[in-house]
Amino acid sequence: MTGAGGFIGHHLVSYLKRQGHWVRGVDLKLPEFSSTEADDFALLDLRRWENCLRATEGVEEVYALAADMGGMGFISAHHAQILHSNTLINFHTIEAARLNGVKRYLYTSSACVYPEYRQNETAVTPLREEDVYPAQPQDAYGWEKLLTERLCIHYREDYGLETRIVRFHNIFGPLGTWDGGREKAPAAMCRKVAIAKLSGNHEIEIWGDGEQTRSFCYIDDCVVGIYRLMRSDFREPLNLGQDRLISINQLADLVASIAGIRITKKHVVGPQGVRGRNSDNNRLRAVLGWEPQISLEEGLGRTYAWIEEMVQRKGVARARTAA
Ligand code: NAD
Repeated sequence: MTGAGGFIGHHLVSYLKRQGHWVRGVDLKLPEFSSTEADDFALLDLRRWENCLRATEGVEEVYALAADMGGMGFISAHHAQILHSNTLINFHTIEAARLNGVKRYLYTSSACVYPEYRQNETAVTPLREEDVYPAQPQDAYGWEKLLTERLCIHYREDYGLETRIVRFHNIFGPLGTWDGGREKAPAAMCRKVAIAKLSGNHEIEIWGDGEQTRSFCYIDDCVVGIYRLMRSDFREPLNLGQDRLISINQLADLVASIAGIRITKKHVVGPQGVRGRNSDNNRLRAVLGWEPQISLEEGLGRTYAWIEEMVQRKGVARARTAA
């Protein structure tokens, strides 16, 4: 598995071990917050071809999660770096997997592939897999995902490599990046609320007017969905997310109620991404006979508890300046 030192990869390694698999994790770094359960862990830079050959040697299946990525703050400010790094990683990894005789290959795409023109309103129509064309992803991050999706489809058609493509919609949970600039909205919100609670200053900064909408999916559902897709016969891209739409303002209120405090929101200038985005789960239900089960309240409860502990450990003053 590539990206095994990252948020989803680390959880997926543990899940695959529970299913009885032998797992090699590959990443630039070890998981930050708890030790890996992988049988073998190689620290490799997958932008380099020879490292991709080593990473995929002797395995039957590849879960390709490695990516240079982060939340809106990161994605909207590093287009060249993201497109360059992620193209190198993904183009080398799939070719190395083919040469090493890998049987099945899962590529982790994103809701960021969907065209900007379908996401201009807060009360957005949920995105069906076929809505992706005509293509107009908002950021270079989404363009690379779309191109690698095409590459996976062609590798299956031309070389017989069984590829699976999953499009995640905002996955969140404990053991993910929660500060430093690469964190995503749910983790950032939990951190801001935890700092507010522990410091007594209940003012929270929100990027934009906070009316932008999203859906959020808890990590335990994500790894189950990935595994089900990998075992299925379905070869086209598939959404994996929740289909409950909420605004960033509502997300802030929900986290505050979990923390047991009242907050005041200060709306500041900041990157907001598309105006609204939701997952259409009809194909997910039909293909996997399943959909995410864990409610936003339950998932955020577990995530908030972990992030509050992280803020306490780091100290409120340091957590505030690191954000
Ligand atoms: P993450 O940043 O926590 O994990 C990605 C991992 O890739 C990191 O540990 C990073 O060190 C590693 N990596 C980056 N460059 C590398 C390189 N050159 N060589 C080797 N490893 C490298 O992100 P995540 O949330 O766990 O995301 C996993 C995958 O899912 C990514 O492909 C991401 O684009 C995709 N995705 C995630 C979400 C989400 O909501 N988290 C949404 C859509 C798509």
